[in-house]
Amino acid sequence: MVTTTTDNDRAEVFSRPAAQINEEGELVVRASSALSCRRSLWYSATGYRPTNPPSDDSLTAMEAGNALEPVVVRAMERAGWKVDPADSQDPQQVAVMIGPGLLVTGHSDGTARMPLDEDEAASEVQMLLFGDVSDAPAYGTEMVVEIKTRGPEAFRRWQTLGAERSHPASVSQAAFYTLGTYDDLRDAVIATMDTGSRTWDYEVIPAERLEKALQDACAWLGELGAHHVRNGPDPDVLPDRDFSVTSWQCRSCPFLDICLPGAAEVDAEEETEEEEVSDQEARDAVAAYAQAQESIREPEKAKRNALDTLKAWMRRKGDAKATVDGRTVSLVQSTRYSVNYRKLNAVLDPETRAGIVTESESEYVRVT
Ligand code: SF4
Repeated sequence: MVTTTTDNDRAEVFSRPAAQINEEGELVVRASSALSCRRSLWYSATGYRPTNPPSDDSLTAMEAGNALEPVVVRAMERAGWKVDPADSQDPQQVAVMIGPGLLVTGHSDGTARMPLDEDEAASEVQMLLFGDVSDAPAYGTEMVVEIKTRGPEAFRRWQTLGAERSHPASVSQAAFYTLGTYDDLRDAVIATMDTGSRTWDYEVIPAERLEKALQDACAWLGELGAHHVRNGPDPDVLPDRDFSVTSWQCRSCPFLDICLPGAAEVDAEEETEEEEVSDQEARDAVAAYAQAQESIREPEKAKRNALDTLKAWMRRKGDAKATVDGRTVSLVQSTRYSVNYRKLNAVLDPETRAGIVTESESEYVRVT
């Protein structure tokens, strides 16, 4: 692979197409789109006009995410990290040649160094087999930082499952940026903010996991590169579809109407067919729910107060069980267990994690 790093003086580079064919005839794919549908990338590269551009709401969410990046950087710095963010007015482009005439390019969010605690710093010194512990470094090795913002559900999913399982495109993106920045693979960090609670967390992806992500992304894009070599930039010879009409990839695809004409309307009709409840019935249901909530509020409060009183009484008596007016009152001890997902994700590869932390989908209604 050949990597290059160049300065680019336009902030708008962040909004360039997912794929293009450049003046040299090379197929150029954005690192953030490396795992996108290959037919969609082909539409983009061969000049199709999007039929389903992002909605105003999606653009607002995207702009809010971009605007929060400096907030995440400052949060990292407050937590002791040393961050060198990318200059938004003068971003540095990285380019990785992954095959004949096939380039992956992008702009990383910057680099960061993790604060070391005393033990880690001392072990760094010992690893060098010389040096005074007082010279111990305060920060770890510089690595690429990828900054993301996620809604509460996606944030929790990422923390629980780890980045490869929840957002694999972010990991391959970090892998391309790392290779493009250092000409080699080393650990990278993904820092993510929950847009609901405005808390943040990070996951360090070790170099060997980046390598696996890079191999997967190169294999995925390699087939598109081969399609380009075989057919040239022919807009009429399309790669196969990678996703089906019910997938989120298709539903949010900018070329949906070209690729699957009528799918958006069918989708809307199906949704309408499912909708047998009128707006008035929905309003009545919300009112009934609120009334039921209100009616149980006082009894719930009385129950909590009674239990607090009994807890204090049992503690004073020193008994775990007592009989009061024919009812048994017990003071139950329980232990809570929790999993530090950040540490778990750091020590296990995604396949092993998948056998330990499983996920299942459920659907429920929440009224607030
Ligand atoms: S509609 Fe679906 S299959 Fe077609 S290009 Fe878009 S993502 Fe790919």
